[in-house]
Amino acid sequence: MEFCGGHTHAILRYGIRQLVPKTVEMKSGPGCPVCVTATVDLDKAIAMAQLPDVIIATFGDMLRVPGSYSSLQKAKAEGADIRIVYSTIDAIDIAKSNPEKSVIFIGIGFETTAPTIAASILKVQQEKIKNFHVLSLNKLTPPVMRALLESGESKLDGIVCPGHVSVIIGSHPYEFIPQDYGVACVISGFEPLDILLCIEKLVEQIEKGEPKVEIAYSRGVKPDGNKKARQLMDDVFEIGEANWRGIGIIPQSGLKIRGKYEQCDAEKAFAVRLKPPKEPKGCRCGDVIRGVATPLECKLFRKICTPESPVGPCMVSSEGACAAYYQYGTLENSQGF
Ligand code: SF4
Repeated sequence: MEFCGGHTHAILRYGIRQLVPKTVEMKSGPGCPVCVTATVDLDKAIAMAQLPDVIIATFGDMLRVPGSYSSLQKAKAEGADIRIVYSTIDAIDIAKSNPEKSVIFIGIGFETTAPTIAASILKVQQEKIKNFHVLSLNKLTPPVMRALLESGESKLDGIVCPGHVSVIIGSHPYEFIPQDYGVACVISGFEPLDILLCIEKLVEQIEKGEPKVEIAYSRGVKPDGNKKARQLMDDVFEIGEANWRGIGIIPQSGLKIRGKYEQCDAEKAFAVRLKPPKEPKGCRCGDVIRGVATPLECKLFRKICTPESPVGPCMVSSEGACAAYYQYGTLENSQGF
């Protein structure tokens, strides 16, 4: 399983499934921040967008994801002030330029983005900017890997571990995977040769029956990761449960803003009432995220669900598996194309 949606896109884009022997089956995993955002959390962001004097700052992929009853895009069309940003710095600039409004940054992502969000919270504290808030939906990688392996639903021999996440956390947090589950682990970069090297190392480990954690992305990842970035995260966030689309609540898998920074915590500053969440009918994003179905097994794929008219987040996000299959899945091979 390639954990990361970036890997899924690279694998399909460069035809890597067609290059590897038929005995190697690649499965997509949950490493797409937009895709794993639970519908109820998206509904919360949409409800916050509808509050008076609020500006929502979000990465663009979130805009078109359908929530239970609306989307950020529809809310924007109906008059909500929702702005696409490319970094937390952009969001802070919006807050500085609009002191009479409250800016809520929708914080999604894994360990890769969490340090930058932490840094933004420290920055607004230092600069005494009072109108910047974060809705922290950030999630952690190793706990969801454990949850997937624990469920046993998706039978895995090896994991292509995410390169960018591992730049921050290093290789040690994956050691439980070979130790407790006997599953091979190799950290990969995102170039086609990185991925091929990673697959070769995984196959070697599996054939020898010696699963371990290896780094096939040594130009980016050190075993200890980036301690400074982790210190930033630890200072600002505490670990708590998180709600994952298609999986549910996983304890110790989310990042919550610590009490000392609660002024920046959108959950504390803005109470919203939500109707019970509804999942898009017929959408199998949850199964795709857990690696138990491919997008081709969803009856809506290409027929009703397309990038122009997405039913679920996996078709919207630039890291979503359904979007990757839609964009690149045109060649015949043994895995369903
Ligand atoms: Fe959901 Fe569309 Fe993917 Fe089907 S093809 S799982 S409806 S996003």
